[in-house]
Amino acid sequence: MAKRRQIIAGNWKMYKTIPEALRFIEELGPKASDLPLSVYLAVPYTAISEAARAAEGKKILIGAQNMNDASEGAFTGEIAARMLTDAGARFVLLGHSERRHIFGETDAMIHLKLLRALESGIEPILCVGETKPEREASKQFAVVEEQLKTALAEVKDLKKIVIAYEPVWAIGTGVTASPADAQEMHRHIRSILEGMGGGDISILYGGSVKPENAAALMSQSDVDGLLVGGASLSIEMFVEIVASATMSDLKTEGKS
Ligand code: PEP
Repeated sequence: MAKRRQIIAGNWKMYKTIPEALRFIEELGPKASDLPLSVYLAVPYTAISEAARAAEGKKILIGAQNMNDASEGAFTGEIAARMLTDAGARFVLLGHSERRHIFGETDAMIHLKLLRALESGIEPILCVGETKPEREASKQFAVVEEQLKTALAEVKDLKKIVIAYEPVWAIGTGVTASPADAQEMHRHIRSILEGMGGGDISILYGGSVKPENAAALMSQSDVDGLLVGGASLSIEMFVEIVASATMSDLKTEGKS
C-alpha cells in the first residue's frame, strides 16, 4: 500500500489580517522546513495572495476555507475555484461544519463544489462529521457514510482528495473525541473509502486539537493528520502541535 500523506492543517476561519498572516508564516517557515509531514494553512481570502507569496520556498501550503461550485457568474460575494488558484491557493476546505450549519450547505452542494475543485486543480479537503444528537442516537456512522457517499459520487480520482473527520460537537468546544473514538470513526471512513477504491486517502482529525492531545490522536493508526481551528491562531500552540504530531507519528509503527 502506498504511504499515506501526513498533514497538519490550520483553519484560521475569519481571523487574521494580511500583516498578521505574514508574521505567522515568517515565524512558522523555519520550523516547518525539515518535517516529514506537510503543513497547510487555510487563510482568509484577503490574505491568500500575499500568504502564498510569503510561503514560497517554505514547506507551507496556503489554501482557502470555501468556494462556490460555479466556474464564474453573477453570484455577488462568492468566489470561484479558479480565482483561488489564481491567487495561489493550493487546497480548499469543503463542507466545514460552520458552512453546513451556519450557512446551510448540503451534501449535494458540497458534492458540486468538490467536482469543481478537482476540475480546477485545487486539492479539496472534504470535512465530514456528526452532531451531538446524532452521536447520542448512535447515528454517527450512518451520517458520516451518507456525507462521504454523496460528496464523492462520480469522483474518479479519489487520490486527489483529503478527508477531515470533524465531529461537530468537538469543534470550538474544548471537547475532543477520545483517541479511541477518533480511531473508530477513521477506521469506518477508511473502510468506506476502500470500497470506493480510495483506501490510501489521508484522513485528518479535527475538533479542539491542542498541544496536549495532538500526539495521542496522531498516534492512532488511521489518523493521518490534524485539522486545527482555534489553536492554529497562536504560533506557539500551532508549532507545538506540529512538533508533537511529528514526534508521535515517527514513533508509531505500522502506519502504512
Ligand atoms: C475547525 O475549525 O476545523 C476546528 C477543528 O476548530 P477547533 O480546533 O477550534 O475545534
